[in-house]
Amino acid sequence: MGVNARTPLIAGNWKMNLDHLQAVAFVQKLHWTLKDAKFEEGSVEVAVFPPFTDIRSVQTLIDADKIPFALGAQDISTHDSGAYTGEVSGAFLSKLQCGYVIIGHSERREYHNETDEVVAAKTRAALKHGIVPVICVGETAEDLEKHGASAVPVAQLAAVLDGLDKKSDIVVAYEPVWAIGSGQAATPQQAQDVCAALRGVIAEKLGADAAARTRVLYGGSVKAANIASFMREPDVDGALVGGASLVVDEFAAIARYQKHVGV
Ligand code: PEP
Repeated sequence: MGVNARTPLIAGNWKMNLDHLQAVAFVQKLHWTLKDAKFEEGSVEVAVFPPFTDIRSVQTLIDADKIPFALGAQDISTHDSGAYTGEVSGAFLSKLQCGYVIIGHSERREYHNETDEVVAAKTRAALKHGIVPVICVGETAEDLEKHGASAVPVAQLAAVLDGLDKKSDIVVAYEPVWAIGSGQAATPQQAQDVCAALRGVIAEKLGADAAARTRVLYGGSVKAANIASFMREPDVDGALVGGASLVVDEFAAIARYQKHVGV
């Protein structure tokens, strides 16, 4: 585990799974499971990223039961309001106490043609509304073969950070596209190398303070059995979890990685 002041972040990207009733049941069960296991609130930040239609229900539950989970959205509009059918404004998300928003996930880049320019505009929109962007970057298998692991994620992040205020509160997620949903995670060393390179980009674009305080996550086939090996790396500050975030016991075990660092 890295020795630093950054609170580890375990973030569950539900993607297009769980309706609002299932979401409420899931969050309740996750909360009880972590409580039963004497999970230490504050030692690790746990965040859930439900679909838009679930957010109000999950927010109400978190609020009413004082559940110590952060809430995030999976996308945000570049616009504040207006004639943009189907879009969701950062102003609305912020009213729902969404503290985070995932931006630039490889599925958005691939299926919705989100370019680095769009990712940068969405990042600015999130920051404008006081929402922390979780900026996702990562190389495809083809990029890996052609350019090595860090070239593409480094370029993607540099394009987004250009021109951002140095005090911006952001999270960066390194998600190799070939590792997402494939069951083939990167090795801890691969994750460390790219996360360190991304921290270097943050230092270059936003300064040393920002690099020291910004959390850089690894994502791609993270599960209870491999999380501890990633979290031992000094530049890996948490995980963005897809499939395993939909299974209560598995996600709870990931959040409790400090109890099984020897795995
Ligand atoms: C993701 O989609 O962000 C992800 C990391 O998915 P998985 O954990 O299923 O690989």
